[in-house]
Amino acid sequence: RAKTHRRGGYEYFTRSMGVEIRERVLLMHALRAAFEHERLFLVYQPQVDMRTGKILGAEALLRWKTDEGKFIPPDQFIPIAEYSGLIVDIGEWVLRSACHELVTLRELGYIDFQMAINVSQAQFSHPLFMQTLHRALEETQAPPEFVELEITESMAMKDPELLIKTLHQIKQLGVSISIDDFGTGFSSLSHLQKLDIDKLKIDRAFVNDIQQDGNEGSIAKMIVQLGQNLGLSIIAEGVENQMQADTLMSYGCHLAQGYFYARPIAKAELHEWLKNRSATS
Ligand code: C2E
Ligand code: MG
Ligand code: MG
Ligand code: MG
Repeated sequence: RAKTHRRGGYEYFTRSMGVEIRERVLLMHALRAAFEHERLFLVYQPQVDMRTGKILGAEALLRWKTDEGKFIPPDQFIPIAEYSGLIVDIGEWVLRSACHELVTLRELGYIDFQMAINVSQAQFSHPLFMQTLHRALEETQAPPEFVELEITESMAMKDPELLIKTLHQIKQLGVSISIDDFGTGFSSLSHLQKLDIDKLKIDRAFVNDIQQDGNEGSIAKMIVQLGQNLGLSIIAEGVENQMQADTLMSYGCHLAQGYFYARPIAKAELHEWLKNRSATS
């Protein structure tokens, strides 16, 4: 009885709000339920060395399939997870699951495999984040040297002191750091130099700018040069064709992730994909 009462109040409350806010609240409740009912899962997008085709590892990407079989894209639900605080629990689950999959892959014989995991601002700045990371590594027995955390440039701007401290602690664990969507967040270059990071991920918008005849790839080129000057490794995301791959390689960027090589795929498909790849190479 208490439940129906609460629900009535909730509906009244949401009806009095704007449609957009109401929709977000509904989505937030649906997301919480989905998480509790294990309707969230990870897919993995392989990362390769474009020169040799060698597999570096994969990025873990979160998926939400509703009970009706509809997929809600992460660009839509991650922001909701962030402002509702749900991202802390979801993010911890992502960390564990991806670390667990890394261990499974190692048991299958893929011992050089790197697992890249997205971490959002709210997770990262949470006081228990280091403890969570530590525990995820310990409980899954994932080797930290094969775990990479992807943070965004805008996070690098918010609280520089905390960021520098946290990055330092992460590096001490042996985990590496990459800056995701690089080039979209306007972080200051002098600031970037102070951060203990390993890799820049060229945002897919700049890869997309690389089109037939034209110099539109100049931002990607600049990022590659910047990365080289700072001694960082560079990976391009969103590589969709050979021409983009060739252009990036001519700039000196050899690592890539994109539909041209592989789409994000479920665990079982990843195992299949890896098996076929190692059989042919
Ligand atoms: P991201 O971390 O920059 O991930 C790369 C996105 O580019 C993925 O979108 C991937 O599917 C897409 N992509 C990769 N290659 C191509 C390509 O060749 N062409 C095109 N058009 N797209 C490509 P996705 O999976 O929809 O994820 C969107 C964003 O959601 C991610 O961007 C990330 O910011 C966030 N996200 C996903 N999973 C997680 C997670 O576990 N935790 C957090 N905090 N954020 C996540
Ligand atoms: Mg990412
Ligand atoms: Mg990205
Ligand atoms: Mg992105």
